[in-house]
Amino acid sequence: MGQAGLLEGRREVRSLDLGLLNEFASIVGKRGLICSPEELHTYECDGLTNFRVLPGAVLLPSSTEQVQSVVRLCHREKIPFVARGSGTGLSGGALPVANGIVLSLARMNRIHEVDLPNARVVVEPGVINLDVTGRVASQDYFYAPDPSSQSVCSIGGNVAENAGGAHCLKYGFTTTHVLGLEVVLPDGSLVHLGGKTLDTPGYDLVGVFVGSEGTLGVATKIILRIVKRPACVRTLLAAFPTTNEAGAAVSGIIAAGMLPAAIEMMDKLAIQAAEAAVHANYPDCGGLLLVELDGPLAEVEALITQVDEICRSNGAWEIRVAQSEAERALVWKGRKAAFAAVGRLSPNYIVQDGVIPRTVLPEVLMEIERLSAE
Ligand SMILES: Cc1cc2nc3c(=O)[nH]c(=O)nc-3n(C[C@H](O)[C@H](O)[C@H](O)COP(=O)(O)OP(=O)(O)OC[C@H]3O[C@@H](n4cnc5c(N)ncnc54)[C@H](O)[C@@H]3O)c2cc1C
Repeated sequence: MGQAGLLEGRREVRSLDLGLLNEFASIVGKRGLICSPEELHTYECDGLTNFRVLPGAVLLPSSTEQVQSVVRLCHREKIPFVARGSGTGLSGGALPVANGIVLSLARMNRIHEVDLPNARVVVEPGVINLDVTGRVASQDYFYAPDPSSQSVCSIGGNVAENAGGAHCLKYGFTTTHVLGLEVVLPDGSLVHLGGKTLDTPGYDLVGVFVGSEGTLGVATKIILRIVKRPACVRTLLAAFPTTNEAGAAVSGIIAAGMLPAAIEMMDKLAIQAAEAAVHANYPDCGGLLLVELDGPLAEVEALITQVDEICRSNGAWEIRVAQSEAERALVWKGRKAAFAAVGRLSPNYIVQDGVIPRTVLPEVLMEIERLSAE
């Protein structure tokens, strides 16, 4: 989408006057109001940095009641607002409207409840994704959706974007792990959607809200489902001459009826960029596959043998299985750093997510390679 496309229909609003700023400050406190031009620049864009708009003010509420009061005031004065988590979104969802309000949920970062017997955690929207797992890891639980940005992005932003990551192949996207929501609607009223139990009666309004990119309301509390850590986890690295062979191996693994916890592929440039950034000790190859299998020990060992065979029959010339938790963590660190590390190759790049049938993966990769060479 061009600059005009994303900004189309965004009307200019009148500047916020001192009276209004004072009213906002009386809700969130002076420390919860940002309106100096230098500080506002921090909030002029999200991860889609080609689009920048200076907001009129940024408000940092610390409770649901404060969010409601801010939203009510915006509603009364017809001031546009956008919610913001950590600002890592790549679709311009947290892009302000000129002179409008940015409602940052960063201060609402408390974990309210950890209910291990029922595998539920109740959080505020500003909680960082990785902190949910951090809170329950010692009890052998984890929060499955793992976007590459998980060390900085917020659960509120994950909900709005229905974020996913490498392990969503097996465990599902954010929508599979959000059971209930407390939401402030655009007029400031409060609703509760879903709940702690699965499949609450009525329409699936949680499903409607997850992925709605902040357009339906502001999530102020989120009930998450956490997952018991599997008994055994093994991560395999397979080096191929090119991504074509790696792509064919992916098709082969899925066609064999396996559902790995994750399968990720990296091409030569991504490998080089990630290596330079975090020294993940990847093989120097044209196409790299990371395959993670988890479950009971006997099942994982049988599947690893099968994956090894499929990779070799598709041309893999080196296969390694991570030998320790530290080695496994390094393998994933490299993969998760790859996106940001591409900045080393080019300061300007644009990311496109595509969906294709897995059977045409090798053809599509060949075409991408041909286009890159042009
Ligand atoms: C290096 C990098 C790697 C990434 N990797 C992945 C990846 O692997 N998978 C993936 O899915 N995404 C990825 N992303 C994109 C981004 O991290 C995710 O979309 C993430 O969910 C955004 O969270 P955030 O807290 O930064 O949200 P923001 O960018 O602040 O906001 C995103 C959207 O959520 C809305 N929002 C925020 N909080 C709330 C709330 N409480 N209530 C209602 N709406 C709200 C905003 O209005 C906006 O529309 C990546 C981004 C970067 C920069």
